[in-house]
Amino acid sequence: MSLKIGIQSVNPLQGDEDLSKATIDFITKYIKNHFPNLSGREFNEFIAITFDSLSKGDRGQSITDYMNSNNLSESNISVYDSVLDLSMRPLAFISRYRLIRNRFKYYTWCALNDERTSPEHRKLDGKKFALLPEYETKEFPYLEIYPGSEHLCRCFMDPDFDNM
Ligand SMILES: [Zn+2]
Repeated sequence: MSLKIGIQSVNPLQGDEDLSKATIDFITKYIKNHFPNLSGREFNEFIAITFDSLSKGDRGQSITDYMNSNNLSESNISVYDSVLDLSMRPLAFISRYRLIRNRFKYYTWCALNDERTSPEHRKLDGKKFALLPEYETKEFPYLEIYPGSEHLCRCFMDPDFDNM
């Protein structure tokens, strides 16, 4: 089974060491929160497999294989949905990290607005937000969540080039 989730087939980390480290930290925290019952060996393997899948751009295939062969699952979530989150959420983290590093301060929340878009994210569509709390103004509030940070979210950020 191959997931059609539009992950680019090139390495999104492009040999960037700081970004790679930050991404491994993100994946580590994510797996710790979502799979609290893994053994130490499984925990380390799962982080490595997830990072490798992202680096290779294999659309979550190696994560799916690993979860199936080790009988791993999150409670109440299908393996398919877990793999979507494990693939998409680091990519959303990477997008945000890149924008902040390139000195963007604000972004527009973009939702796909189809039948799978949540009512909450539909409301955020087209609105502008600050990337960091210190950039927050009345016009550009800061949110704890960001596009792609929540379960099965497919929203994305459009960076604001006019207010940097
Ligand atoms: Zn969303």
